[in-house]
Parts: sequence; C-alpha cells; structure tokens
Amino acid sequence: MPAIVNADECSACGSCVDECPSDAITIDEEKGIAVVDQDECVDCGACEEACPNQAITVQE
Ligand code: SF4
Ligand code: SF4
Repeated sequence: MPAIVNADECSACGSCVDECPSDAITIDEEKGIAVVDQDECVDCGACEEACPNQAITVQE
C-alpha cells in the first residue's frame, strides 16, 4: 500500500517531498496538502520519517 496523507495534519511543509526517492509526492498549493502519486510510491517509508506532524503514513 502506498503512503497516505492525513489532510487534517499536513501543513504542506515539503519535507516529505524532499525525502521521497521516487519523486512520488507533490504539494497541492491550492489545498495546502501533500499528494502521493500512488503509481510512483515504492513504500519505502522515508516520508513517514521526514514528516514533523505524523501526517503521512505508509499502510501495512
Ligand atoms: S513511502 Fe517512499 S516512495 Fe512512497 S511516497 Fe513515501 S517517501 Fe515516497
Ligand atoms: S512532511 Fe508531513 S506535513 Fe510536511 S508536506 Fe509532507 S505530509 Fe505534509
């Protein structure tokens, strides 16, 4: 399962974007949240570790 963003917790800080090795995450400026391209995500967990708000989790 790919990474899932909790929109209520995400502050669009961009840390996960910087850490993602697959460039699977982009920031939706309009909504102010990170968006994961599920086709590109390789479930590595780097975004989860990078997020200061625990807003992105990789589903088991
Ligand atoms: S789990 Fe890895 S590949 Fe998937 S969005 Fe997070 S950092 Fe990117
Ligand atoms: S690191 Fe967390 S708070 Fe920052 S953009 Fe990514 S999901 Fe949102």
